[in-house]
Amino acid sequence: MHQLTLAEIARGLADKKFSSEELTKVLLARITQLDPQLNSFISLTEELALEQAKAADVRRANGESGALLGAPIAHKDLFCTQGIRTSCGSKMLDNFKAPYDATVVSKLAAAGTVTLGKTNMDEFAMGSANESSWYGAVKNPWNLEHVPGGSSGGSAAAVAARLLPAATATDTGGSIRQPAAFTNLTGLKPTYGRVSRWGMIAYASSLDQGGPLARTAEDCAILLQGMAGFDPNDSTSIDEPVPDYAAGLNGSLQGLRIGVPKEYFGAGLDPRIADLIQNSIKELQKLGAVIKEISLPNMQHAIPAYYVIAPAEASSNLSRFDGVRFGHRCEDPKNLEDLYKRSRGEGFGPEVQRRIMVGAYALSAGYYDAYYLKAQKIRRLVKNDFMAAFNEVDIILGPTTPNPAWKLGAKNSDPVAAYLEDVYTITANLAGLPGLSMPAGFVDGLPVGVQLLAPYFQEGRLLNVAHQYQLHTDWHTRTPTGF
Ligand code: GLN
Repeated sequence: MHQLTLAEIARGLADKKFSSEELTKVLLARITQLDPQLNSFISLTEELALEQAKAADVRRANGESGALLGAPIAHKDLFCTQGIRTSCGSKMLDNFKAPYDATVVSKLAAAGTVTLGKTNMDEFAMGSANESSWYGAVKNPWNLEHVPGGSSGGSAAAVAARLLPAATATDTGGSIRQPAAFTNLTGLKPTYGRVSRWGMIAYASSLDQGGPLARTAEDCAILLQGMAGFDPNDSTSIDEPVPDYAAGLNGSLQGLRIGVPKEYFGAGLDPRIADLIQNSIKELQKLGAVIKEISLPNMQHAIPAYYVIAPAEASSNLSRFDGVRFGHRCEDPKNLEDLYKRSRGEGFGPEVQRRIMVGAYALSAGYYDAYYLKAQKIRRLVKNDFMAAFNEVDIILGPTTPNPAWKLGAKNSDPVAAYLEDVYTITANLAGLPGLSMPAGFVDGLPVGVQLLAPYFQEGRLLNVAHQYQLHTDWHTRTPTGF
């Protein structure tokens, strides 16, 4: 039963092959048995899950239907869940029980999902390896000595290991697409504003976006359907109708214009990944797509710009964790300054402290123009590159990551080496565009992802292309040994 996708679960529940309660019990037992190897969950919510599963079974018995009614999922532990610890992977929030549900959580609950628990993540979503979590590193089910990617590494490892069919995640600079690539999943970062950020603990507000992680494009369509839509509580949420994503999966790819940026294939890309990307291009050509070489000339400036903007916003967002209102408070503060200093010094880990310092520096008087303002100008250039490219092509295709998942600890002493791994993903966040990663093969037994980018609000196009690709390839069906 644990091998079922969301789409298969919906059919099984509709045909009364099993109940949501039965399925939930199987998955909870599987998590208890297998997760100690992976560390993908921070909290399990067994009681809530069984309650929601029973309620979904009652709703189905009363004639209700719906692709998510009775579907077990988990939430990345930065989505606020009422009365349940919402830690953000940090000691700072280890004692924090959210007083309300994030919009994503309440929308999915209303659609009938069953919350199995909260998944592990890099502290405050800062990282690409899920090693900065206060709750310990997450392991990649494809090779337990390797990282699962980050910052949504817990959601990715759990879904890849078949502990559950799908999970929510967030992507500020790649944290849905990169762990999807590292664990053989399909992950979608929607257009900025497509999914409400209300109740999603902020890292870098102008870049953060929630989205689905699942094994197939079809399942991403189902989960995104439950997450997307206008929310008056989020001033950056966009009041655009949400299309029926599942209905759009079967469009023909005949004549689809795919742009392949020449800058994507420079030094730094593992040549074995380059080969797999070429194979995926051939596969899409067989389905009728037309390939065109394009250029994104400002791509080389994206990493430095992102690593100024994201820390700058983080330094502001994280100032609320001061030991006064919520979160960790130090013992016996001598005065207010001591309270701030020690609460933050004890509550935040080294990567978070590093980013706060970089961000505060870049925003300070005298440096603002030199760093922050310049980074914002680069951001506009990156966006303009995409706008020009999308005048000529329908989607852009390339690798999701330059290398496969690295060994645990391999980049711990060199944060910049880890930052450089984000080269293909962060441009979409800077521009606010939707992006998807899907399985494209293996290198040394480790999964490789191919990334697709589309114009604003064309999530449906990404899902359509990925679904058609998955009808003709079987990379996404491979299961890690031992799971
Ligand atoms: N690796 C990037 C960072 O650390 C992206 C993280 C994310 O998307 N949350 O900022």
